[in-house]
Amino acid sequence: MMVGKTIHITGVVQGVGFRPFVYKLARQHGLAGWVRNTSAGVDIHAEGEPESLQAFLDALTAQAPPLARIDSLTAADSPPEYHAAFEIRYSEAQQGAFQPISPDIALCADCRRELLDPADRRFRYPFINCTNCGPRFTIITDIPYDRPLTTMAAFTLCAACEAEYHDPADRRFHAQPVACPDCGPQVWLEGGGITARGDAAIRQAADGLRAGKILAIKGLGGFHLACDATNTAAVAELRRRKGRVAKPFALMMADLEMAERHCQVSQVEARILTSPAAPIVLLRRRPEAAAVAAEVAPGQAVLGVMLPYTPLHVLLFEDGMPPLVMTSGNLSEEPIVTDNADARARLPALADVFLMHDRDIHIRTDDSVVRVFDGEELPVRRSRGYAPYPVRLPFDVPPMLAVGAELKNTFCVTRDSYAFMSHHIGDLETYETVQSFEQGITHFERLFRIQPGQIIHDLHPDYLSTRYAQTRAEAEGLPRLAVQHHHAHIAACLAENRHPGDRPVIGVCFDGTGYGTDGTIWGGEFLIADYRSFERAAHLKPLPLPGGDAATRKPARIALAYLLACGLAPDDDLPPLRALSPVERDIIYKQVAAGLNTPLTSSMGRLFDAVSALAGICQAVTYEGQAAIELEAAVDPAESGAYDFDTAAVISPAGALEQVIADYRAGVSPAVIAARFHNGAARMIQDACLRLSEQYGLDEVALSGGVFQNVMLLGKTLPLLRQAGLRVYKHRLVPPNDGGLALGQAAIGFGSR
Ligand code: ZN
Ligand code: ZN
Ligand code: FE
Repeated sequence: MMVGKTIHITGVVQGVGFRPFVYKLARQHGLAGWVRNTSAGVDIHAEGEPESLQAFLDALTAQAPPLARIDSLTAADSPPEYHAAFEIRYSEAQQGAFQPISPDIALCADCRRELLDPADRRFRYPFINCTNCGPRFTIITDIPYDRPLTTMAAFTLCAACEAEYHDPADRRFHAQPVACPDCGPQVWLEGGGITARGDAAIRQAADGLRAGKILAIKGLGGFHLACDATNTAAVAELRRRKGRVAKPFALMMADLEMAERHCQVSQVEARILTSPAAPIVLLRRRPEAAAVAAEVAPGQAVLGVMLPYTPLHVLLFEDGMPPLVMTSGNLSEEPIVTDNADARARLPALADVFLMHDRDIHIRTDDSVVRVFDGEELPVRRSRGYAPYPVRLPFDVPPMLAVGAELKNTFCVTRDSYAFMSHHIGDLETYETVQSFEQGITHFERLFRIQPGQIIHDLHPDYLSTRYAQTRAEAEGLPRLAVQHHHAHIAACLAENRHPGDRPVIGVCFDGTGYGTDGTIWGGEFLIADYRSFERAAHLKPLPLPGGDAATRKPARIALAYLLACGLAPDDDLPPLRALSPVERDIIYKQVAAGLNTPLTSSMGRLFDAVSALAGICQAVTYEGQAAIELEAAVDPAESGAYDFDTAAVISPAGALEQVIADYRAGVSPAVIAARFHNGAARMIQDACLRLSEQYGLDEVALSGGVFQNVMLLGKTLPLLRQAGLRVYKHRLVPPNDGGLALGQAAIGFGSR
């Protein structure tokens, strides 16, 4: 008996080898029919014996290719069409339909083997890829994902590649970026003219790196600046040229073994390092492994390490290449450079030599950064390898645009149950970054066929993302919604944990800065919150920030102002006072006394800054979060003592600060002071949550905000909350910092409608 079924599948099912998989599976089960990509997913018509058809259906999800993510599968009976065989049909664009797009995928094991096999026709070809690996998001100009709609359209397939592309049994069947040395992109080396091409260019680039040169290397999502990480002079020179004083550089290491020689690597960390996303993983540095120059990551206990993720990287790392610094190819805070002409215009002062290629990058994506906490990913920056894969929401939502924050910006567009979080845009402080932000929004709306019916933005009136939202909402006559910053953080945490939002939770939002509903700067907040609204149930006592935002660069100033505001005597022997000139001190005394130019903040980030200064760890910062990161790095894990915070609705840190000073005077080490402060903060969270749990009858806690990138604090807080019988939600999919904010804005945009 012949029966037929029409099957519709949605999810990430294009560009991941799904059609060849369906084809092979159908033939295995003796079925006829067809499979095709649509702009909404994959459609299948299969016909044959009922048992075979059922077995085929079961295997579709059970045996799907590793990179495929099936979100829905519907199968309906349909009359047999009496096909002679099973075939793969060409794509059909459907108006308004959409499907998720795969992120870029690191080189797979099969391609790596061919790359290094002298008998293979792609031996040492730096653009080798297949259905399971290679560029995706960065080269796609529109959907459906087919070669003419990628930046590979410029390269005409040779006969050999064409044959592979059309052979359903081949592992490059319909691999859109398929290429070979005869027909695909090429590399060359240039520095005042082209000096080498192809393999010679790669070998000379490697020699240059070994000789201490700084190279601009075109990668998957943009240019990197690279140098030998074990060469102190080269790293110092790169810092000087980039004007980057202390912010750590990311490293690329040849393989897992090399990473393990320099850092402690847990099983989970090893799995993430070698995953298809291949992010930078922050790994605890082995104190005895001193080969990597101290200048790479001053004051850090961790190194940011990634493994080679493109064939070009693999070739560079042959023949005993030491760890390389691989930092974004950009001028200080501008977006990462992606195109060749731009690289020649912007990077010559930074790089000695350029390793270029002619495959265009349509969308820039920076490397992603993750930490591992509690056996799970804790994203710090979600970009290459993750974006634009959507976060599934716990509910279906209308099309919306959430524009995110100002720093570490990402935005988010929604439809159905999907929140498409953008790649990392950066700090919206330069013209170029704002342009990249606007172009990114246009691209996402087009790719996912989203026409937002509402725009959600931060409450801060001066964020450039807020301005964009206002201007656009006005131009298009769209409703817009301003969302309080820390409410959005908590909602982001709830949304990624697929909390239904039918009950409020205790949201602990410890952050740097965010605009409060009272016009002051918040950031040490306990919110009773759901997707609709929130109540500020407790918070750190607002303290004066002398000179406003400028104080964030000088933790020493914050420390002095906090002591004055808390009525603690600031003796001249304390580290922050020693770091300040008599004139600076005098200004702060006067400012605090008169309340002049001293905006109030309840920020937990600033309290970390103050304690970092008082412990003698960091008096001035050159990148955001430096003082807190160095305080975390200093923690003596064996210390169990803790400072005391009071646990009223307004939580004063005065007692804790007084203890910090007493410890410092008694000669207690910075490591112990750092530990006692972290322990005290964890207990304060526990106390406050217990009190609020009783007061509001709630037993769920969501932890969010930039301070919760601190795994030391998380590690001390989580057990205390769990011991107290509270259920804890934390971030695993989007960053707890402002890079995850847009998700929460979108959730509130829906929840408060
Ligand atoms: Zn591959
Ligand atoms: Zn070819
Ligand atoms: Fe924030």
